[in-house]
Amino acid sequence: MIILNKILSLIKGSIGKADSAELDMSYDVPVRYRADYLAAKMVTKMGVYGTRIEMDYGVLTDGYDVSNDTVWLTVKTYTSNTAISAAIACHEVGHAYLCKNGFSGSRIEYETNATEIALHFLRDELTDEQFKVAERFLDTALKTYKS
Ligand SMILES: [Zn+2]
Repeated sequence: MIILNKILSLIKGSIGKADSAELDMSYDVPVRYRADYLAAKMVTKMGVYGTRIEMDYGVLTDGYDVSNDTVWLTVKTYTSNTAISAAIACHEVGHAYLCKNGFSGSRIEYETNATEIALHFLRDELTDEQFKVAERFLDTALKTYKS
């Protein structure tokens, strides 16, 4: 229960909520698939069975809710087919993966690991140019946790 509470406290402030408003997205590029599709594909590929991908009608409220095992994506993220939307959605699936595999670590490790898992998946889904955009976005987001 301590771990669960720790994870719950970590989840508040996932990428969308805390940081994306501050992040430059002007370098975003289109990709082949929408973010909801890529997130669902990642759930299957990573064996994160049972995790749901749902639309959230808030603004900048992308996040993973461990209490109902759901990745909530804003309408913008969910319906967009861009490298940054893919990065956000897959980062949140990375959190689902970590929670289901008994992650216990610091906040920054939780964020870093979610990004690493997302990029591992996206490496096979995006072109080199698209991947660099996703990587740049997630790396920049991580720096906001370190400062
Ligand atoms: Zn996160």
